[in-house]
Amino acid sequence: MADQDQDLADVAPYDPGDGSLPVFRWKQAGPGLATRRQLRKMGLRPGGQEPVARIECRGGKRWAWLYRIDLAKPKFAMTLAKEAALDAAMAARQTCGICRRRYFHCLPLKTLGSCLECFDGTPADPASYIAPPAKHLLAA
Ligand SMILES: [Zn+2]
Repeated sequence: MADQDQDLADVAPYDPGDGSLPVFRWKQAGPGLATRRQLRKMGLRPGGQEPVARIECRGGKRWAWLYRIDLAKPKFAMTLAKEAALDAAMAARQTCGICRRRYFHCLPLKTLGSCLECFDGTPADPASYIAPPAKHLLAA
């Protein structure tokens, strides 16, 4: 453990400092673990998880965080999923409950429950909404 303590001291600026992470020698990391660079090659990214171990070579002079592959997120799919989730939240506030048109601005759904056009006939600017179904925009 003395070795490890020494190594931790060397990389202190980047280390969480609790000394709890296992340290692997280069190429000795357990299966299911990968560095950020290895994840990227697989089309993955850490996805917000904390590193679970450190891998190092040459006595700790070069090292990298190790992440769990099973917790890693696909780079692109996750971005899309996130956008879709955000989009769904926005859509709920921008979509008229009656005509299902989706506006580029939030509607007074709490008070009117619909867009102005449905509520009192005020014509909506065609440039201010997307005709339903708006979901297809995401797939494009
Ligand atoms: Zn409407």
